[in-house]
Amino acid sequence: MFWSCQIGLGLIVKISGSSSRLHSSLHFFFLQAGLILLQISTQDLASFNTLRLRSCAGEFVRFESLSQLQELSEALRQRSGAFVLGGGSNVVLTPVLDCLVIKVQTRGVHVWAETVDEWIIEAQAGEVWHDFVDLCLNNGWAGLENLALIPGTVGAAPVQNIGAYGVELDQRFHSLQAWDLHKRQLVEFSRADCAFSYRDSVFKRTPPGRWLITAVRFRLPKRWQPVLEYPDLKQHVQLAEAGADVTARQIFEAVCEVRRRKLPDPAVLGNAGSFFKNPVVSAARYAQIKAAHPEVVAYAQEDGAYKLAAGWLIDRAGWKGQRKGPVGMHDRQALVLVNYGGASANDVMALADEIRADIAARFGVALEQEPVVVT
Ligand SMILES: Cc1cc2nc3c(=O)[nH]c(=O)nc-3n(C[C@H](O)[C@H](O)[C@H](O)COP(=O)(O)OP(=O)(O)OC[C@H]3O[C@@H](n4cnc5c(N)ncnc54)[C@H](O)[C@@H]3O)c2cc1C
Repeated sequence: MFWSCQIGLGLIVKISGSSSRLHSSLHFFFLQAGLILLQISTQDLASFNTLRLRSCAGEFVRFESLSQLQELSEALRQRSGAFVLGGGSNVVLTPVLDCLVIKVQTRGVHVWAETVDEWIIEAQAGEVWHDFVDLCLNNGWAGLENLALIPGTVGAAPVQNIGAYGVELDQRFHSLQAWDLHKRQLVEFSRADCAFSYRDSVFKRTPPGRWLITAVRFRLPKRWQPVLEYPDLKQHVQLAEAGADVTARQIFEAVCEVRRRKLPDPAVLGNAGSFFKNPVVSAARYAQIKAAHPEVVAYAQEDGAYKLAAGWLIDRAGWKGQRKGPVGMHDRQALVLVNYGGASANDVMALADEIRADIAARFGVALEQEPVVVT
C-alpha cells in the first residue's frame, strides 16, 4: 500500500508498507518547484466551521504551499488584517468577515529526526489532525492515540494546546515553524517559546493574523507507555481485558468509541466541542463551593488550586438540554453548545453570555469561552 502527499516546497513524501502497518522508510522526490499563485475571492464559510454558522469572507485565500508566503505578506500589506483558518472547529464566525481569511491546506508528514529514544515527526499545518494520528500509528509511532478524533488541523493543535483523555499536546510537542505575517520571515518556536498551559499558548494570546503556523514537530517515544488514567479509559472493557498487553491502536479505537458515544458529531449537529474551559479557582473558593454543593466535580491542581468541571456547573444550573431559538446546550453534554439550524454568531454569543452570567451569580465562578470569535 502506498501513501503519497505533497508538502511545502514541492516535495512528495511516499510512505510504503503492508496494508496493516506502514514502515517508516520514506522516499523523497522533488517536483519542479512550482509557484502556486494566490487567488483571492469571496467565500461562503458555512461549511468551513463546525458550528455551521452563516458567515461570508469578503476575501478568502487557500494557503497550499510555502512558496505563497511572500505573496501572502504582500497581500496583507494592503489590508487591515488577516485570520488564519484551519478546520473551523474552534471558532465562532460572525456573518461578515472584514479581514483576509487564509485557509491552511498544506499537506505532508515525514520523519524530521530520529534518536535512540524517539522519533521526531514533522507534519504540515493543513494535515487533518485525526488522520495524522492514525498515520503515525500505522507507522509504529505511538504517543498521540489519546488525542484521536479531535476535529481540526495539525497547525491549530498548538494554538490551544489540545488535550483529551489524559494527554495534552505539549507533552508530545518538539517544536514548530511559523511564518511571521508582519515581519515576513519563518520563525522557529521551541516548547518554551510556545508557553503552553491549559487550552492556551502564546498563539492564542496574540492578536489573530500575526502568526501562520506552517509545520509542527512531535516527539514520539520508542519505548511507549500507555496513558490510561482517565476514568473513561480505565473503565473501558476492551482495554481492561488487554491489561499489560494493551496497544496504542487499541487505545486509539477506545478513544474513538467513547468520543462517538459521548459527543455530538458536528456533521450531524453543528457544534464546536466544549464551549467553555474548566475554570480554575483557589482552594478557599473551592471549599466554599464544596460546602454548598458536596457533589461538585473538581480536580486538585499541583499548585493547590482546583479545576472545576464546567460541564457540572452548567448541568447543575439547569442548562443541559435547554434551547434558546436555534441554539442550545446539548442534552447529553452540558458543555457543548449546539446549533439546531440557522443560527448566527449573535444567537451563540447571547446564549453564552446568559450562561456565563448565571454561573457567576450561582457559584461566583467566571467561565471563559474556548472558541475564538472572528469578526
Ligand atoms: C466535536 C468537537 C470536539 C472537540 N474536542 C476537543 C478536545 O477533546 N480537546 C481539545 O483541545 N479541543 C477539542 N475541540 C476543539 C478543536 O477541535 C481544536 O481546538 C482544534 O485544534 C481546532 O482546529 P481547527 O483546525 O479546526 O482550528 P480553527 O477552528 O480553524 O482555528 C482555531 C484557532 O486556531 C488558529 N489557527 C488555525 N490554524 C492555524 C495555523 N496554521 N496557524 C496559526 N493559527 C492557526 C485560528 O486562527 C483560531 O484562532 C473539539 C471541537 C469539536 C467540534
